[in-house]
Amino acid sequence: MLMPSFTAYRGRFAPTPSGPLHMGSLVAALGSYLDARAAQGEWLVRIENIDPPRCPLGAADTILHQLEAFGLHWDGNISWQHQQGEAYAQALEKLKAQGLAYPCSCSRKQWRDHAIYPGWCRNGVQAPGQPVAWRLRSDLGQRPVNWQDRLFGSQTHDPAEYGDVVLQRKDGLWAYQLAVVVDDAHQGITDVVRGIDLLDNTPWQRQLQVALGYPQPRYLHLPLVVTQEGQKLSKQNLAPALADNTHAIRQQLFKALQLLDQSPPSS
Ligand SMILES: [Zn+2]
Repeated sequence: MLMPSFTAYRGRFAPTPSGPLHMGSLVAALGSYLDARAAQGEWLVRIENIDPPRCPLGAADTILHQLEAFGLHWDGNISWQHQQGEAYAQALEKLKAQGLAYPCSCSRKQWRDHAIYPGWCRNGVQAPGQPVAWRLRSDLGQRPVNWQDRLFGSQTHDPAEYGDVVLQRKDGLWAYQLAVVVDDAHQGITDVVRGIDLLDNTPWQRQLQVALGYPQPRYLHLPLVVTQEGQKLSKQNLAPALADNTHAIRQQLFKALQLLDQSPPSS
């Protein structure tokens, strides 16, 4: 893994509190934590709770206790996405003013035969008077976007090929792509270290950073931890929560270090 050459480093771990951390999330947290500490940088924690129905009460506390139990001590105050609505609204206004966001009344069902949302509302909502989501004009922002992934190397992607992603949902809730870009900028994040399942979100995020005049962090995407059947380890496919007794913590840290291609001492 190439070490970045810079002095100021601020990384973050940004879990969605939809359940306790599992081995996959431990690897992401540990990878990001160690990268920050190796660079004598700061490591922040952000709770991505913009979608309350997906976030059972107490899950965020459980995650914070798990991080503490695993020795992953964070710097500064924890940031909570549910408190950032004003910042997201300002960012959306900025995009609207540039013609880079538009209202869309379509439902997923209407465009289910298409791989991506076909942009039907780009020149006016299809069903005026209906509730609308706000989407990104991915065809009008910077394209293609390029970055040097610290693990996966040179990346060139056209955000328009990924479609006009939702920025604010019909129910008024903020969507991940907008929230993460605003939060990374507001927290001064210089380095994003996260699972490769988010690599194909990065083109939208780079495009949004350019449109909003934000600095662009460096990116390092980590290989995913998969089950024996090759499925991503996730809450959806019932990955077990991390065990929290001292012996189990040591074992799981050892395994996570191995998964990060490190060579931890066996005793
Ligand atoms: Zn539409």
